[in-house]
Amino acid sequence: STVKPDISRERSAELYEKSKTYFPGGVNSPVRAFKSVHGTPLFIQKGDGCFIWDADGNQFIDFCASWGPLILGHNNSAVREKVIEAMQNGMSFGAPTALENQLAELILKNNKYIRKLRFTSSGTEAVMSAVRLARGYTKRDKIIKFEGCYHGHLDSLLVKAGSGLVTFGETSSAGIPKSFADETIVVPLNNIQAVEEAFEQFSDQIAAVIIEPVPANNGLLLQTQEFLEFLRRICTKNKSLLIFDEVISGFRVGFEGAAGYYNIYPDIITYGKIIGGGLPVGMYGASEEIMGMISPDGPVYQAGTLSGNPVAMAAGIAQLTELSKSNFYKDLNNKTFEFTESIQRYATAKNYKFKVFTIGSIFWFAFTDRESISNADEIDASSMEKFKIMHRELLNRGVYLGPSGYEVGFVSSTHSKIELEKAKRAIFESLDIVFRG
Ligand code: PMP
Repeated sequence: STVKPDISRERSAELYEKSKTYFPGGVNSPVRAFKSVHGTPLFIQKGDGCFIWDADGNQFIDFCASWGPLILGHNNSAVREKVIEAMQNGMSFGAPTALENQLAELILKNNKYIRKLRFTSSGTEAVMSAVRLARGYTKRDKIIKFEGCYHGHLDSLLVKAGSGLVTFGETSSAGIPKSFADETIVVPLNNIQAVEEAFEQFSDQIAAVIIEPVPANNGLLLQTQEFLEFLRRICTKNKSLLIFDEVISGFRVGFEGAAGYYNIYPDIITYGKIIGGGLPVGMYGASEEIMGMISPDGPVYQAGTLSGNPVAMAAGIAQLTELSKSNFYKDLNNKTFEFTESIQRYATAKNYKFKVFTIGSIFWFAFTDRESISNADEIDASSMEKFKIMHRELLNRGVYLGPSGYEVGFVSSTHSKIELEKAKRAIFESLDIVFRG
């Protein structure tokens, strides 16, 4: 393979010059700024199925999927029609609507791990609320989190968080009072001893252990079943709550998310963007007893003007109806497995130091020869230079990955065999260039 000339980014570059005058870094969320890959960020004009088009008219097979929520691809007609139908009746009331009931029923009927829920408008809000709920319920303050897990940008959890921060070489954010960070204990993933030590030191102060059961914000750091079961046991033993942050894994590795995949009952689960099919929705759920702590039933306050917004609920109803159909996940996961397997076979045959890690329809390209990576420390930071080359070569071959080697990719139901074959060819050629120049 030969290095391809760069695609035109003229129009994107113009838009970026403008956007830099309006927004810090020219963007409304940091990882979009292409800081760790080549060139100016692409401004996206439209999406359809598995394709996106940028402002210069370049077409890409998209594996970013708006960072996960577009499991049915871009501009899904069922979601779009339901949204338009809802919008014809007005966009927000700040009063209850039947649509909230419908979406809640669809979720609770198909998920045995939660009994009551509340909708929010983002994943960050869902996690922030879940942490407050755990603290209110246990009357304790400390939270254990894991290095390499990202839980949104709430103060108490922005400590050694995922992608954006690792990419920018920061371990925390400015503007967080030390006293807040002091309530957060950070331990390495997949390390029983570290968690035991934290409990020994702070046992009766720990409100909750929060984990992404499928850590997908700092590479894909798959945990063992034993480790997740250990967390369940140690939380129960110490009367601390176990929070699964399933903003990525929920409705992604299966309708019941990672809880269902591993069959582990956390005390609180947070979900996010995938519920809204591209519109802003988050949610947290738990048992009736725990959720009974939430205002107005209980003393833990949590609210939102746009929570349960009818347009977002309509999108959720349409999207989750598709996901609840039999064989939806089986087909999607099988397709993803075939895709990632053949990429791995190619790399192995060529002796490239490259692994594809995968679960459900999530995948991560890692420049490593380790058989598994379950801990942030096991990622070789210098390998990100290779990702940077690959990212550029893939864009020049019509394949769009999220602009950081710490980010995972997502396959949607609209990635057909034809597009996956095309994407594979582009990936093979890009790997050849990364490893052989
Ligand atoms: N938790 C996890 C596991 C996430 O991956 C994210 C964002 N990708 C969040 C929380 C925050 O969600 P949001 O960006 O919607 O606030």
